[in-house]
Amino acid sequence: MKHLSKLAFGQRKVILTLFIISLIIGGTIIGQAYFFVAIVDRIFLDQQSFLDIVPLLAGLLLVLAGRAGFTWLHGRTGVKMAARAKSHYRQAIIQKFSRNPIQASLKGQSGRKVSVLMDSVDEIDGYFSNYVPQMIQTAVIPLMILIVVFTQHIYSGLIMLITAPFIPFFMAIVGVMTKKKSEEQMEKLSAFSGKFLDTLQGLTTLKLFGRAQKQKDEIEKSSLGFRDATMGVLKVAFISSLMLEFISMLSIGLIALEIAIRLVVYESIPFFSAFFILVLAPEFYLTLKDFGSAFHTGRGSSGAANQLAEELNETESYVEWGEGKLSAGSKPPSLELDNVQFSYGKEEGLFALENIQATIPAYSQTAIVGRSGSGKSTLLHVVAGLIQPSEGRVKVNGEALSFYQEHEWFKEVSYISQHPYLFSGTIAENIAIGGRGSHSMNDIKAAAQRAGIAELIESLERGYDTPVGEAGRGLSGGEKQRLAIARAFLKRPSVILFDEPTTGLDLKTERILQESMKDLSKTSTVITVAHRLHTIKNADQILFLDQGNLAALGPHDVLMESHPEYREMVQLQQGGTPA
Ligand code: ADP
Ligand code: MG
Repeated sequence: MKHLSKLAFGQRKVILTLFIISLIIGGTIIGQAYFFVAIVDRIFLDQQSFLDIVPLLAGLLLVLAGRAGFTWLHGRTGVKMAARAKSHYRQAIIQKFSRNPIQASLKGQSGRKVSVLMDSVDEIDGYFSNYVPQMIQTAVIPLMILIVVFTQHIYSGLIMLITAPFIPFFMAIVGVMTKKKSEEQMEKLSAFSGKFLDTLQGLTTLKLFGRAQKQKDEIEKSSLGFRDATMGVLKVAFISSLMLEFISMLSIGLIALEIAIRLVVYESIPFFSAFFILVLAPEFYLTLKDFGSAFHTGRGSSGAANQLAEELNETESYVEWGEGKLSAGSKPPSLELDNVQFSYGKEEGLFALENIQATIPAYSQTAIVGRSGSGKSTLLHVVAGLIQPSEGRVKVNGEALSFYQEHEWFKEVSYISQHPYLFSGTIAENIAIGGRGSHSMNDIKAAAQRAGIAELIESLERGYDTPVGEAGRGLSGGEKQRLAIARAFLKRPSVILFDEPTTGLDLKTERILQESMKDLSKTSTVITVAHRLHTIKNADQILFLDQGNLAALGPHDVLMESHPEYREMVQLQQGGTPA
């Protein structure tokens, strides 16, 4: 609970407010008991008339209203505090994911991440809206009641004082027992969410391999695991509330018995005091019991909080950004790879980029060439500023990428990856996210035209309003890439990073692609992971990667002459594809 309490007690003002409201609620509880007992005392014992007790009735009404009002205020303050805490956690997690988009999208299951972001954060609500406010009430109200009881009758006060600690003591035992259980429950929930989404996304693959039944069994196992963990937590919760009920009933009985004996047998206590204590005693234990259930809620939150802390604490290097402006000027920026190194982890044997050194002048076209798995896409990620090099840096106009503001850089870049993502929405909306602001339908159509996808879109029944993405129509890999290129046309970036499709394209598409890229490159610096001979030949320089190393750097003709490995690869890869 360390993280949570820091967050809660960091909000000093709120805590102080809760404390003061608790004091007032304590006062109304005592006042309510006092007026009630006084009314009964005067009517039945002193035989006073109704008119005499009207002021007392008014007082009772007032404290009743006050108690209701302040209890509501107390609850509201807690809920507000919870809302603040939750938004703090959600922001932290989203920030973490967005700071490190590649790692975030590769590591762990998406379902699990959604579950952490939504369910775990919701789970901590109880700590702030329930546990902390109740804890403060429990620290204040029973003490006030105890003092009042002591002024009336010492022995009843002593009984309360002795029995009260049993409740927190018992709760502590339960707490230790449930802590692991509730953590386990949260873990099971996210494991279940993870498995479920994973299966859903991979349904085609599973069907094709005849694994659907097995996966179904696994989901069943996972969901049963979650059920059992939940039932385990609930069992402990119910038993513990039963025990708390039992302890408080026993204690109230004890007090009643003691008072009755003194009142009836010894006649050593006035009726007023006896009745007053009898009305206050249940309130005393009620506050303690409420804390019991709040304590349980707090426990549940603590499991969730640990999971959040774990998610947030995972230290990864992420791309840092500065305050510099990237003056667009009339010229696209020049880039430099200055001893760039990157590895997917610290362990031995993991893929790593080593000492990549290259200068990429403004307007130039650079092709990254290499076998599959040689690190081409990884290098493009580094240049895009999506992952942080472990050593060295990417320089833009002579300054490290970390010098610039994040949006200044991304404003200038278009990255057309091999698998562009389509959001659920219409085709027009999907193209429009490429732009720098709002765009007219005509701009979008022009961009689609230049990307060579307009014809296809217009052939669809609903044209640009056709829904695509998760909830819509599918597009082929090549179509998606052309849509991504349309995004680039809308944006007109000054740096273009392009991961060319590896699969063979038909001649027409090939030509469209060439035309589009030629058009885009007129106003930008281009780096392409190249598979087509046309792109390779057109490039001003080739970065030839071999297992993460820069094996050669230079124009195509020169490398063909001087680098047998390069020549071999290009000839092999291209086979007989037309140039
Ligand atoms: P290319 O684009 O040249 O085919 P990539 O840059 O995609 O190659 O990948 C280079 C190497 O890095 C491959 O061996 C791949 O298995 C590895 N790799 C890619 N992504 C990760 C990752 N998230 N964690 C660990 N290794 C990875
Ligand atoms: Mg690749």
